[in-house]
Amino acid sequence: MTRVIPLTDARRPPAPAVKAPHVSPTGLLADTRGRMLRDLRISVTDRCNFRCVYCMPKDVFGRDYPFLPHGELLTFEEITRLVRIFKAHGVEKIRLTGGEPLLRRNLEHLVAMLAQIEGLDLTLTTNGSALAAKASELKAAGLKRITVSLDSLDDQVFRAMNDVDFPVARVLSGIDAAAHAGLSPVKINMVVKRGVNEHEILPMARRFKGSGHILRFIEFMDVGHTNGWRMDDVVPSAEVLRIIDRELPLEPIDPNYSGEVAERWRYVDGSGEIGVISSVTQAFCSDCTRARLATDGKLYTCLFATTGYDLRAMLRDGRSDAEIGSYIAAIWLQRADRYSEIRSENTVALPKIEMSYIGG
Ligand code: SAM
Repeated sequence: MTRVIPLTDARRPPAPAVKAPHVSPTGLLADTRGRMLRDLRISVTDRCNFRCVYCMPKDVFGRDYPFLPHGELLTFEEITRLVRIFKAHGVEKIRLTGGEPLLRRNLEHLVAMLAQIEGLDLTLTTNGSALAAKASELKAAGLKRITVSLDSLDDQVFRAMNDVDFPVARVLSGIDAAAHAGLSPVKINMVVKRGVNEHEILPMARRFKGSGHILRFIEFMDVGHTNGWRMDDVVPSAEVLRIIDRELPLEPIDPNYSGEVAERWRYVDGSGEIGVISSVTQAFCSDCTRARLATDGKLYTCLFATTGYDLRAMLRDGRSDAEIGSYIAAIWLQRADRYSEIRSENTVALPKIEMSYIGG
């Protein structure tokens, strides 16, 4: 039976007027909780070729789903211009995402344009379906690292989770191609959902231990309106660590930098590291330095934000870099988001934006 889920089109709220305080058009920014602006995630397309049941379920993202028309997407030139402005405000790391970023035609051209901006850590998150064909051209264009989402090694479980019958072997060859091209260390993200793929935690750990890749376990989150999230479906990271540690002993290691999303652990026998991303059981809002640029150029200051600020309108209105920079500064200086800290069964029903559009 088809599940009916109320879906509001949150992509088109009018851009609210943010009152701009007097700020210099460039410079480092801290929000109302002292958090700097360091990372920008850019959704380059709201389309995906997978229909992962927890992200873009088929009964919502069906054939008639109104994905954004091409003209509403930021162009590569617009994205590059915004990235330069963000960099002037302290952004050091850019992650291209979506939707499925490798579905955006000629994405390697955008990578090449961004790679020319000095001093940026440039990376990309993909479902890996097109990676075997694209890894070396992405590397040649200047991509430094890559994250591949992979929720199971069991072909049947994987096909059921992506819900388009996509075989796991093709994602595994994409991971090999990425490593071979030098996009390393390859990070592999596994979203763990109770009763769906928790039995795959150990097989995934065994498979990637000693491979040089970094496997990260992500708690299932209540993003978007459509994934029917319940707290009972979350497998807490502490449980994931217990399961692995029983067979493959682990010890904690220091973060690479302050504000790192994944908590790092390494195998005691020295054969590599894993990470856990505990956005539900251990919210990391207090040092969140991320902003998100949605597919149509709206800026969001939290994955769970409902208000986006329309940077595309400014670009297409002929505003100067200084004006756009001031607007970004005003938005960040007033930022107070801390959704994951206040998450409860009650907040789940609040309006939210789909992850494919805002950028996962
Ligand atoms: N298509 C690309 C991919 O598959 O990696 C990029 C976009 S996807 C939205 C980015 C990441 O978000 C994936 O690793 C996906 O598993 C994760 N994700 C999606 N929905 C999630 C949820 N409800 N909870 C936790 N992670 C989620």
